[in-house]
Amino acid sequence: MLDVTDLSVSYAAITAVTGLSLTVADGECVALLGPNGAGKTSTLKAIAGLVPHTGAVAFAGAPTARNSTARNSTARRPAARMPADRLARAGLVLVPEGRRLFAELTVHENLQVGTTARGGRTPTYDLDAVYELFPQLQALRGTRCWSLSGGEQQMVAIGRALVAAPRLLMLDEPSLGLSPRNVGVVASALRTIKATTSVLLVEQNTHVALDIADRIYVMAQGGVRMQGTSREIADDSALLDAYLGQRVAAS
Ligand code: ATP
Repeated sequence: MLDVTDLSVSYAAITAVTGLSLTVADGECVALLGPNGAGKTSTLKAIAGLVPHTGAVAFAGAPTARNSTARNSTARRPAARMPADRLARAGLVLVPEGRRLFAELTVHENLQVGTTARGGRTPTYDLDAVYELFPQLQALRGTRCWSLSGGEQQMVAIGRALVAAPRLLMLDEPSLGLSPRNVGVVASALRTIKATTSVLLVEQNTHVALDIADRIYVMAQGGVRMQGTSREIADDSALLDAYLGQRVAAS
């Protein structure tokens, strides 16, 4: 579904990601874990076509960008990117950190916006299915999104992405800043979603990531430092502790 090779992202003098490769197979749920500043968000943004990068990104077997090499030079220029909205219509749908909802639109109207990115695909989740997945949104259908709690906003953002019929759903820190109860609601929804949709997830909550994902990449300083199945990563708690400063064995 997704094949990323030798990805690098820089912001002026700052190198955020360097030489990163990862894959997400059809039907797989993969998580990127890592400390602040490891390059996780930059990786998702590059895959989604939102920031310039070098390296190859192939989605559903087709390249999303092509690198060019300057004549008489080995230096690589940033790839010519497919615009993010076109990638979304092709089924590569990102739920960004901070959710980016239309604050003045209602819950229902925000969900309706998501349907415009379907690109002719039949969605697993229509609007009714989103309300079934997140029952607490039912009573909020007519509520403007600026007045929702962070957890409710995250549910709307995930719902809006789902009704776009994603072939690969990418989520940036979906549990960040949520109450423990809403972390549980979102984690439970992701377990349901991954049964029908390929998922690439950035999470700072190690327990959530290990619980949901089939496979994990642990990032630090712009690159992948460990990878394996969630079981393998959880079993290597000393290494996880070194990279994330968190013990998983205690959970
Ligand atoms: P966090 O969990 O804190 O969001 P992250 O692993 O997602 O961290 P990134 O947000 O990708 O990491 O940041 C990687 C590096 O790139 C950091 O040093 C960050 O300060 C820098 N960076 C990110 N965005 C920009 C930007 N727009 N301009 C300049 N530097 C940036």
